[in-house]
Amino acid sequence: MLLNNDKSPWMDEELSIMRDAVRKFIEKEFSPDAKKWEKQGFIDRSAWLKAGESGLLCASIPEKWGGGGGNFKHEMILVEELSYAQITGFGNGVHSGIVAHYINSYGSEEQKARWLPKMASGEIVSAIAMSEPGTGSDLQSIATTAIKNGDHYRLNGQKTFITNGMTANLICVVTKTDPDEAAKGISLIMVETEDVEEAGGFKRGRNLEKLGMKAQDTAELFFDDVEIPLGNLLGGNEGKGFIQLMEQLPQERLIIAAGACAAIETALRITSEYVKERKAFGKRILDFQNTQFRLAERFTEAKLARTFVDQCAMQLAEGKLDGATAAMAKWWTTQKQCEIVDECLQFFGGYGYMMEYPIAKMYADSRVQKIYGGSNEIMKLLIAREI
Ligand SMILES: Cc1cc2nc3c(=O)[nH]c(=O)nc-3n(C[C@H](O)[C@H](O)[C@H](O)COP(=O)(O)OP(=O)(O)OC[C@H]3O[C@@H](n4cnc5c(N)ncnc54)[C@H](O)[C@@H]3O)c2cc1C
Repeated sequence: MLLNNDKSPWMDEELSIMRDAVRKFIEKEFSPDAKKWEKQGFIDRSAWLKAGESGLLCASIPEKWGGGGGNFKHEMILVEELSYAQITGFGNGVHSGIVAHYINSYGSEEQKARWLPKMASGEIVSAIAMSEPGTGSDLQSIATTAIKNGDHYRLNGQKTFITNGMTANLICVVTKTDPDEAAKGISLIMVETEDVEEAGGFKRGRNLEKLGMKAQDTAELFFDDVEIPLGNLLGGNEGKGFIQLMEQLPQERLIIAAGACAAIETALRITSEYVKERKAFGKRILDFQNTQFRLAERFTEAKLARTFVDQCAMQLAEGKLDGATAAMAKWWTTQKQCEIVDECLQFFGGYGYMMEYPIAKMYADSRVQKIYGGSNEIMKLLIAREI
């Protein structure tokens, strides 16, 4: 077999059973609604609750807090299976893979008990709000502030491009508690939207219209003198936000790399099927040597990506993945995803440009992988710093 992720060295019997269950869940509960979600621009709230009921949310959060008690390998399976099924809009990577881990790693016992069990059940959908209209890559320059005022913070600012932004009822907002400082002034403040929507000052803007990832809601958020209790500061100490972000980013980057790897495998699978069926000049498209050589090269790259990401996943599960290696995995796999999906689309000829063919949706969905989670240029800066 040229591609077979069940042979990944980190897979075992328990994980195979989980993979099988996740695949069946997606087939039954998600795939029938996928087209509707793409059209409406968001995933139904009921899908989050179903995923929670079936134990798919917070898979790598301790059971004590309502999670699955697993590790990064469990998150990998979810990322991969969603990607194989082309469900690109379900923001569970952000919810379970990122925000839940911020709370689990830095939250007080009271904060963990308040948020994590509801995140695992799907009653809470979470988002992380770093990017602003004026700054994305240069996080130290954010303008959103949370200034202490009696027993609360006064939150002011604007965020944009926020995944799950329309749906989320818990948002981890990256703010400056000390606007005179750069990295040292940054803190993570948890905003419970039901409270602030009632009190006023918090508004969601547009669900942004994107090139791809149509089912994922991606929103603007506005904070105008919003009062947030001091107890919603994550971790209890101000000024720790930047370090907290840097510590968790390798996991975020590997989630993106895992999705890229699975997308590459899907593109090659559907393209292999197509070139065996379609004929030109009396031959199958696969019978042209150009097709054979190009696909042979792309399958080789898919294997390289899989081997590298598997190794990173095992290191991450042991807490040993360093930031530069995670950055390598993120930029290289997403670059390859875009190149390979583009090349695969070419084998479909005109049909590849038609949205009814999955490769067209993959082409549109892939592009953002090189931009978010830290752009690929920023990944190269992180690697270059270690030279
Ligand atoms: C679909 C989608 C979902 C997203 N989800 C989230 C989310 O959930 N939460 C969130 O906070 N953000 C999210 N983002 C935002 C995303 O993380 C940012 O778009 C990204 O970090 C880049 O920031 P920017 O758009 O401000 O680009 P800029 O920082 O303005 O960069 C513009 C270009 O310049 C390059 N560049 C910048 N600095 C350098 C440098 N020093 N050297 C070389 N090149 C450089 C960049 O690589 C980029 O190509 C999302 C974005 C999209 C499109």
